[in-house]
Amino acid sequence: MRTPLSGWGRYPVGISEVHRPERLGELKVPLQSSGSAIARGLGRSYGDASFNSSGCTVLTERLNRFLDFDPSTGALECEAGVTIGEILEYFIPRGFVPPVIPGTKFVTLGGALACDIHGKNHHKDGSFGRHVIDFSLLTADGELVHCSRDENVELFRATVGGMGLTGIITQLRLRLIPIEDPRVVVDYDRAKDLDRALELFHESDERYKYSVAWIDCVGGGRRGLGRSVLMRGNPATGSEAAVLRPEKRRGISVPSTAPSFLLNRGSIRAFNGLYYRKHPRQARGVLSGYESFFFPLDGIRNWNRLYGRSGFFQYQAVLPYDDGRDGLVKMLELLRKSGPGAFLAVLKRFGSGNPEAPLSFPMPGYTLAADVPRRGSAVLDLLSRLDEIVIDLGGRVYLAKDARTSPGAVRAMYPHLESWLEIKSRFDPANRLGSDLARRLELLP
Ligand SMILES: Cc1cc2nc3c(=O)[nH]c(=O)nc-3n(C[C@H](O)[C@H](O)[C@H](O)COP(=O)(O)OP(=O)(O)OC[C@H]3O[C@@H](n4cnc5c(N)ncnc54)[C@H](O)[C@@H]3O)c2cc1C
Repeated sequence: MRTPLSGWGRYPVGISEVHRPERLGELKVPLQSSGSAIARGLGRSYGDASFNSSGCTVLTERLNRFLDFDPSTGALECEAGVTIGEILEYFIPRGFVPPVIPGTKFVTLGGALACDIHGKNHHKDGSFGRHVIDFSLLTADGELVHCSRDENVELFRATVGGMGLTGIITQLRLRLIPIEDPRVVVDYDRAKDLDRALELFHESDERYKYSVAWIDCVGGGRRGLGRSVLMRGNPATGSEAAVLRPEKRRGISVPSTAPSFLLNRGSIRAFNGLYYRKHPRQARGVLSGYESFFFPLDGIRNWNRLYGRSGFFQYQAVLPYDDGRDGLVKMLELLRKSGPGAFLAVLKRFGSGNPEAPLSFPMPGYTLAADVPRRGSAVLDLLSRLDEIVIDLGGRVYLAKDARTSPGAVRAMYPHLESWLEIKSRFDPANRLGSDLARRLELLP
């Protein structure tokens, strides 16, 4: 069956054959019968990474069984379609959480590994791949290959952050971390401008396991460029086991008919101003439920529809610390001058990158992620100009969020891309694993 598919940004849309296996044994079929195939988790990457309009898209959501758990080490073995949300639901009562928690719980472990995702604890704990012990990969020739740091090492490294292009991850072993209480004790600091936000990050980030800032990309005036609210916290401790239960929030949903004019420069500016003022200048020790701390947007189902049918881009880039502050100023100035402006934006400090994985995104530096409505060709010019700043400073964009950058830009951003392409061509010479992103960025040698 050919079905229209898109990522979370709702742009671009591709039409693909869809295969939805329930058992691992059914996975070989699309690799053998269609021109090319790509795995798709829950489609929470924003652009065109998770579908393949030149062949088949394999939905992994039904491959979601827990297989084994060792409470003495926290090692969880499960199928790759298991989600971060399912782990939280099942393991919080048992005193464990995933080592990396992204901004939504609707992410599969296969998607997390293929994008080597990061969480609010990146500056302390690194990205997802670091916590994976091993995994099984169905490769282009239909073989099921066991990959770890000792076995099939090249495939291991090329698959972490490899955007699904080395094979279909069927199951993996991941180290969960023990907790006493799933809640987070949060400190809030309002920063009047970007410099104050960066100063606070550098002064005190190491005291917090989780750290992130909301940043205003439209308001603040000339003197308040980059005004922010820092939200940093540590896991709550010492509470009785009764609080170890998953949180339940009642969600509201955005209808599919939501008009895109709801988000215009005026409403975006008003929302950001309100958000900034609603937070106190400083608050200490606020006990926050994990759902509201980690997944503030999950309570509004289909919030991506707020941008209307044309969708939106999430631009996420990292700039190395050297000159990173000046790069951020340039980016914020461009974003502020742009048409509708950026609605939601976050700023975070990354710790060390993942030296094992040539295509992994994080590197030491500042990462800025901004949602920009897809309106008119000016937006594409804006994002290309942001790319230029990023390349100039030795940074990179996050492929999991990308829908529009160019093959040349990616080559300039990812210095180890050539070595990754060499591994890809050796293990998949006929390019049986391919996605729309891979074709757009010429990742199929
Ligand atoms: C609201 C929101 C907040 C987010 N916050 C963060 C964040 O804080 N940090 C962060 O790093 N990311 C974040 N993301 C992005 C998201 O974590 C990643 O895009 C993740 O990969 C999505 O998982 P998925 O299961 O939906 O994968 P999909 O989007 O379906 O696929 C993503 C990639 O993974 C590959 N893939 C999926 N399953 C497999 C498999 N079994 N085998 C091989 N390849 C596979 C696909 O081919 C594709 O290339 C956020 C996204 C949203 C919508």
